[in-house]
Amino acid sequence: MTDSIKTICPYCGVGCGLLIEKGPDDEISVKGDPDHPANYGRLCSKGAALGQTMGPEGRLLYPKINGQRAGWSDAIQHVADGFAKIIKQHGPDSVAFYVSGQLLTEDYYVANKLMKGFIGSANIDTNSRLCMSSTVAGQKRAFGSDTVPCCYEDLEQAKLIVLTGSNAAWCHPVLYQRIVSAKKQNSDLKVVVIDPRRTATCDIADLHLPVASGSDAVLFNGLLNYMHENGYVNELYLQQYTEGFNEALKSAQNTAGDLENIANQCGLDKDALEEFYRWFVDTERVVTVYSQGVNQSSSGTDKVNAIINCHLATGRIGRPGMGPFSFTGQTNAMGGREVGGLANQLAAHMDIENKEHREIVQKHWGSPLIADRQGLKAVELFQSIESGKVKAIWIICTNPVVSLPEADQVKKALEKCELVVVSECIENTDTTPYADVVLPAKTWSEKDGTVTNSERCISRQRGFVSGVGESRPDWWIISSVAKAMNFSDAFDYSSPVQIFKEHAALSGVNNGGSRDFDISGLSLISDGQYDDLQPTQWPITSERPDGQQRMFASGRFYTDTGKAQFIAVSPRKPVQPVTDSFPFVLNTGRSRDQWHTMARTGFAARLSEHAPEPYLEMHPNDAQTIGVGEGSLVSVFSQLGEAVARLRVDHGQCQGSVFMPIHWNDQFTSLGRVGAVVNAEVDPVSGQPEFKHTPVKVVPYRPEWHGFLLSRRKLELREASYWSRAIGDGFYRYEIAGEQSADDWPAWARNLLCASEADTNWVEYLDKGSKQYRGVRLVSNRVESCIFIAPDHQLPPRSWLEGLFAKQSLNDVERKGLLTGRAPVGQKDQGRVICACFQVGINTIMDAIRTQGLTTPEAIGDALKAGTNCGSCVPEIRELLGTTLSQKTS
Ligand code: SF4
Repeated sequence: MTDSIKTICPYCGVGCGLLIEKGPDDEISVKGDPDHPANYGRLCSKGAALGQTMGPEGRLLYPKINGQRAGWSDAIQHVADGFAKIIKQHGPDSVAFYVSGQLLTEDYYVANKLMKGFIGSANIDTNSRLCMSSTVAGQKRAFGSDTVPCCYEDLEQAKLIVLTGSNAAWCHPVLYQRIVSAKKQNSDLKVVVIDPRRTATCDIADLHLPVASGSDAVLFNGLLNYMHENGYVNELYLQQYTEGFNEALKSAQNTAGDLENIANQCGLDKDALEEFYRWFVDTERVVTVYSQGVNQSSSGTDKVNAIINCHLATGRIGRPGMGPFSFTGQTNAMGGREVGGLANQLAAHMDIENKEHREIVQKHWGSPLIADRQGLKAVELFQSIESGKVKAIWIICTNPVVSLPEADQVKKALEKCELVVVSECIENTDTTPYADVVLPAKTWSEKDGTVTNSERCISRQRGFVSGVGESRPDWWIISSVAKAMNFSDAFDYSSPVQIFKEHAALSGVNNGGSRDFDISGLSLISDGQYDDLQPTQWPITSERPDGQQRMFASGRFYTDTGKAQFIAVSPRKPVQPVTDSFPFVLNTGRSRDQWHTMARTGFAARLSEHAPEPYLEMHPNDAQTIGVGEGSLVSVFSQLGEAVARLRVDHGQCQGSVFMPIHWNDQFTSLGRVGAVVNAEVDPVSGQPEFKHTPVKVVPYRPEWHGFLLSRRKLELREASYWSRAIGDGFYRYEIAGEQSADDWPAWARNLLCASEADTNWVEYLDKGSKQYRGVRLVSNRVESCIFIAPDHQLPPRSWLEGLFAKQSLNDVERKGLLTGRAPVGQKDQGRVICACFQVGINTIMDAIRTQGLTTPEAIGDALKAGTNCGSCVPEIRELLGTTLSQKTS
């Protein structure tokens, strides 16, 4: 007998529904919810591995003040008194909250209410500033509201999908899979990918435009101009529903020039560019998907408007299969926007600068005062901490020492800050060492509330296990501090449903269709109805209790005139140009199987195998120029800082550009925080940082020795100048390197691996001449740990040795093979894992291609199951097919 609970994946903005089943022994299984309209049962590798991330390892269990365990009441009072004292001395703007798109709407609502309505400052900002604030600003400029016009079904109804600045195959995998399926069912559907990199998403592209970094606005301005010159502008729509076309066109004409000129500015082939323009103008049903590649720019807001301009000019918005569609980064970035979690918003999509809106919110909250001007946005907030203007910060559910640009400055800012409070579910993050007070929060599987996904769909997150230690929900922690600050009446909540109803009611006050965000239809729901709430797209009102799929079908917008606004866009280059000293553009983004700062995905063995250490992707010609090859270690320097990563030579990279993922941090590697390298240039309108463009130099990192280490227990690696740790199935994997060789490698290894314990056997090999050492520590004939050292990175593969950790005892053949690190004859080594869902390795796939004559990813799926669950590995399987088949025929 099993209980089934419906909840939501905590990671990306797709917002997939999950079905949690608890077995008789409380064993948890996680499946895709077949009824959820975001995913209809699909999950990506991250969602499917959620069950592996629920252990108690690393959890923060108790409140602590200055590193000492404290009771909740003392900790709450300490925080409340600390904030109150600083506010009394220096005013409300001397304190701040920094929150997260991972919070539930109810948590977010209470945090925003406390800061803006009771403390009286707008100094609350969120890590969503880093991923989508340019979209918020662009949509507000064009539509008068932060409204996503489209729905996921539009991806199936479109005839042309343009993905610009979006590696959906890795970052929004389930939506990518919906496009893959749509393409299979609809041979008319074309896909264009606009991205400087040839990413996994290009696997389904009919056309890939490797646009020069930062030139997207030129490309879309050029499209606007092309529409005008060739008679594709929808004059009737323009007249009835829009304003500002002529100014926007003039800007486009000024910057774009003829096709040749645009192609040159964008670094594109003229014919390919023209083909895209022709497809766009000839196709009525066109969806333009955009994401971080557009948003994370010092001109991100303009880029968003350049895209929206093209949809307005053709009237392609608000109808099935068309519209500009922002794929949101985090699971509840949209919910955060709805409650006003950004420093330049109020609540319920109302404006801080609007007096009537302030009065509505203040009255609804019964608040003594309300913020009347924008607060500090993320980057300027931490700069203001460093300058001493902000003296107390409460960081909730986020890890800014890793994720912000100029991340070492963030450390310095927190070191100086008078009071740092961190609410976290994990004990050791890169940020917690800077906290005066840490407060243990419940996490995904333990919390109840709501989230909103990229298509405005509100879903219930339902807790299904009790929390660990003394952890509490975030809404409870924030309300408790508010009460201790003498705001008891307004924060006397006993459940998330109370908060949700207050939030829903606020959205309907004096609304009557004047504001986009209205969920007043849910303001009177019972506790039972809240528990049973079905996924519904807002607006949700008494007239529309079932919500609304698309917005703006009527042609009415939320601007003062009711008309959509064209924005004149003058494209700007990234703020910092490359120079002789810093000749590469550093682009950052997500890796396939990790999420943010790895606080959850870093604990899942099957998610660690695809990329077990931080890496840097570089074009082979660039790698040759700087004298490094596949698998070497490289140092990446900007004017701000340094990171060290493993080189991946990748033909998909543009020459002159390198890519590094955002996830690695001091908990998983010695020097892999890319945030320490990224510059802090921001978009002047949205405040979003330019994560896609930092001038850097890349040089070989040449240690004295390289190595790897597998161990059943977690180790501290002070002896290595470079290390990275990944979790495996029953072991930890360390990649290591050092700048000084040990005098006595066997003694060094014994010391490191605690070899003094009883029952220990060593199998060893030392060749001083070639500087090679290999040691395997066995306890009762079981591998306990092993270490391989060499003068360069040409070491044996790890996969066969890793597999030995699953064995309770080794046979003779395995013992003999230990020091080679390779599978003995007769045993298989499946190699690096390609398909995380079914744990299928590269050797297994290549072997099957060669021996079974497989020629398509589908045939490989039938034979090995690889690629048949989430599909994220299909592009890699296709690449393997290409290389293996060409080897076979040559
Ligand atoms: Fe979670 Fe993957 Fe769905 Fe995103 S696409 S919500 S990470 S299962």
